[in-house]
Parts: sequence; C-alpha cells; structure tokens
Amino acid sequence: PVPVAGSDHVIGVDSIITAIGQRIDREGLDAMQSLRWTKWGTLMADTITSATSMEGVYSGGDLVLGPATAVEAIGAGKRAAEGIDRYLRGLPQPKMPPVPSRRMRVALSETPASSKMTFRRPEMPLLGPERRRITFQQVELGYDEHTAKQEARRCLRCDICKRCGKCVTICRDKMGINALQFGYMGSESSEMTDYRVTAERCILCGACASNCPTGAMTLTDKDGERVLSLCGTVLCHEKLEYCDQCGAVVGPARYLDYVKKRTSTIIEAFEGRQFCEKCARQMTAGYKSGITIP
Ligand code: SF4
Ligand code: SF4
Repeated sequence: PVPVAGSDHVIGVDSIITAIGQRIDREGLDAMQSLRWTKWGTLMADTITSATSMEGVYSGGDLVLGPATAVEAIGAGKRAAEGIDRYLRGLPQPKMPPVPSRRMRVALSETPASSKMTFRRPEMPLLGPERRRITFQQVELGYDEHTAKQEARRCLRCDICKRCGKCVTICRDKMGINALQFGYMGSESSEMTDYRVTAERCILCGACASNCPTGAMTLTDKDGERVLSLCGTVLCHEKLEYCDQCGAVVGPARYLDYVKKRTSTIIEAFEGRQFCEKCARQMTAGYKSGITIP
C-alpha cells in the first residue's frame, strides 16, 4: 500500500476499541487469582477444551496464543463452546489426542529432476456452487489417493534436508563445479532453484553426499549407473565404467575425465586404458620403478 495524498479524512465515533493483538491487556484479569499465566504473559488454557486453570472459565484467541490469526481464534472459540457445553451438562471432557510419533520411515519416492521442476499442484475438487448455497458441507472435497500421491511427489522433504547449504558450498568452492542451484538454501545468491542444472554440470564425484550431515544427498551405484539424489530427486546419473585390469568400478566417464585432467602425467603412462584406484596405484608404482604389471 502507498499513501494517497489528500485521502486523509476524519470519522466521528464515540469510542475506539483497539484490537490489533499486539499485547495482552490483563486489567481486570489479575483479580482472578487462580488463573495461570505463561512466561510469555499469555493465559494458560487446555488446547483441546480451552479450559483455563480457573473452574468454569474458558479462553482462546490472542489471550492464549499471543498475536495470531483470526482463524486460530475462531477454532479456539469453537473448542471452547464444546468444552463449556460439556462442562454445563456434566459430560466428560475429550482427552488429549495422542502425540504423533514416527512409526516407520517410508522409502523416498524416486523422481527425475526434470519432472520435479514441472509438477504442478493438482486442482482441488470443489463442491458445486448450487450445493454450496444450501449446505454447510466443506467446499474443498479433498484429493483421491492417486492425486494425493501426485501432490506428495512435489514435496522437498525438508524433514530430511535441513537446508544447511553445505553441499552447495562444497560443490562450488571446494570442487569448483557449482552444479547445485538451490535458490531456497538462503545463500547470498539470488539464483532460482533449478534441479536440472546438476545433470549438465555434475561430475558425480560425491563430495556433496559425503559431507551431507543428514543423508539427504546420496550417491549410489545401482543397475550399472552412478546416481546422485537429493531426498529421492534424481539430480544426475551416468553409466559406470570399469577397470580394464580387474573389472572393478572406476566411476562414470565425466568423473574420470575430471580426474584425468588433473593427473595427466600419470594417465599418459597408462596408454589410454583406465584402472580402478587400487590398480592405478600399482601401475603408478610400477611405472615409476620401471616394473610393468601384466
Ligand atoms: S542436502 Fe545435505 S548438505 Fe545439502 S543442504 Fe540438505 S542437509 Fe545440507
Ligand atoms: S557430486 Fe556433483 S553436485 Fe555433488 S559435489 Fe560432485 S559435482 Fe558437485
């Protein structure tokens, strides 16, 4: 909003009640000595029934929550109404629902980065306008199982990746590759998130995955490929190459190219053949001492 010059005007009123929820006015409540208050100065009330510590007194809204939304205040009002009704009729109050606890870890759903970037929120089915006029039924009807799963595939799994940005820093500053473009990491960069960039630039070295503190970033060899994933989103994958000497995995071509550029003098001596780390060490030792490994 911007001030519009000359738009100021005076409205005549008898009294003004400020209700902007900035702080709690306890005037009149301090006399009710059995009320208990939190260290933030809000009134303690049961989250299910809205009952306070004083028999027969119920409370909700900003007085309990501090500055919050109207929706939360309305919810508290409804719970309080239910609690008061039960209190007056001598019915038992509802119990606290069990605190949710993780029962198992569901396997991450594998999603290609290109799909992750293009998923859109599925449209929510709504109650028809005619029906809405004659009922209090909820307007949003909810997703069916298939659509709910589609929606879940858009999840960034922030319960696993804590957005520390370590992977981004290591790839950019230590490896000098800058293959991770995660705009939501809160780095100084104003780049937009684009998971597809990784497939173009990444050499599948695994430095990011090895330093990820939560296991959100993983590098795995499976089905003849090396795969870099972030919480199930496949950022990059490439066919694996094998040692010409012993058949052990030596890594994908782009990783080998990267290593070769940095070890060109040693590699020259291998005459275009590629070796696993162990054989390369043996070959290098043999090369330097003039011994040829068969
Ligand atoms: S993937 Fe790992 S290293 Fe990267 S931001 Fe998430 S938790 Fe941090
Ligand atoms: S695996 Fe890819 S994204 Fe991770 S540090 Fe290496 S080059 Fe960067």
